[in-house]
Amino acid sequence: MSPDPAAVLARAEAAYLGLALGDALGATVEFMTPREIAHHHGVHREIGGGGWLRLAPGQVTDDTGMALALGQAILAHDGRIEALACARAFDAWMRARPVDIGNTVRRNLIRFRNTGEPEAPASDHDAGNGAAMRVLPVALATFGRPEAEVRAACRAQAHVTHHNAMSDAACEFLALSVQDFLRGDSLQQVFRQRIRPLVAAHPAYAFRDRPRRENPSGWVVETMQAVLQAVVDVGGFEHCLVDVVNRGGDADTTGAIAGMLAGALYGREALPARWLKALDPAVREACMAQARGLIAQPSLPAREAASQACRAPAREAASQACRAPAREAETQTGTSADLVPGKS
Ligand code: MN
Ligand code: MN
Repeated sequence: MSPDPAAVLARAEAAYLGLALGDALGATVEFMTPREIAHHHGVHREIGGGGWLRLAPGQVTDDTGMALALGQAILAHDGRIEALACARAFDAWMRARPVDIGNTVRRNLIRFRNTGEPEAPASDHDAGNGAAMRVLPVALATFGRPEAEVRAACRAQAHVTHHNAMSDAACEFLALSVQDFLRGDSLQQVFRQRIRPLVAAHPAYAFRDRPRRENPSGWVVETMQAVLQAVVDVGGFEHCLVDVVNRGGDADTTGAIAGMLAGALYGREALPARWLKALDPAVREACMAQARGLIAQPSLPAREAASQACRAPAREAASQACRAPAREAETQTGTSADLVPGKS
C-alpha cells in the first residue's frame, strides 16, 4: 500500500519546518548549561533570537542553512545526490559568510577548495554532528527508493565534510526514520525498526537507563543521545523541542535534529503557530518549497518503469533514450564520473 501523497507531503513540510524551528529555538541557548538557561529564561520556549550569535528573532543558523544549500543542489540535479554537487553547494554557502560554521565543515571545505576532491579522507576524529544535522533533503529526495540507495546517498553528502562511521550511522538512521514517519509509521514501529538496531550496531548510542544527557557536545553520539531521549520519552512536537533545547550545549543542532524527526512524526498541525509566525518568513517559504520539490521527484512507479526501460536488451539505444538532458550536459563536461551516490 502506498501512502496518501498529500499526507506524505504534509509530513515532509513539517519535517523541514521542524528542522528550522528547532534551530531557531535552540540557537538562543546554544552553549549554555541547563542552569544558565534556567537562570536567564526559566524554561526557554519562545523563538526570539539572541544567543552568542546575537541572532535576529526567527533567524536560523548553519544547520538549516546547510540543509537548504544541499536541497537546492539536489533539486538542480534532478533529485540525484552527487558528492561534487554537494561539495560545490556547501562551498558556495561558506563563501556567502554564514552566521556560524562547524570546524570540521570549514576544514574539509577548504580541503575541497584546494584539492577539488569532494570526498574527505576517512577520519576517526570527524565524528561531529555536522553531516547529520543537514541530511533531511536526502531523506525527502530518496523517499520510496531502496534502503541501500538511501544509505549510499546519505554517505555521498556526508563524506564531503564528515567521513566517519558514527556520523554515517546517525545520518542513515535519521534519513530512514524520517522516511518511516512519512509513510505513517508510529514511534513504536520506528523504535523497533530503526532505534533498536542503531543501538545494537553501535552501543555508544545507548540512551535509555542512562542519566539525562545534558550539555550535549557537537560529538554526534552525545547529540543523538539527547535527541533520542527527547523524541522517545517526551510526547508531542513542542514538548519534545522544548525538552531538548533546555538541555543546553549544542542546542540549535539538537533542536534541528529533534525537529526534523518530531515534525515528520507529529505532522503539520502539531507545529505551534506562534513559532511558525516567529520564524524568518524567507526561511519558512524556502523550507516548504524545498519539501514540495524534493518529495515531488518522479513517482516510484514512473522511476521504476524508466529504469526497467533502461535495462532493455538494446541497452545502448535505451540508455541514450533514458538520459535526461541535464545528465547529458554533465557527462559531456566530464564531471559525472565521481558523482555516483555510494561511491564511498
Ligand atoms: Mn548552528
Ligand atoms: Mn550547533
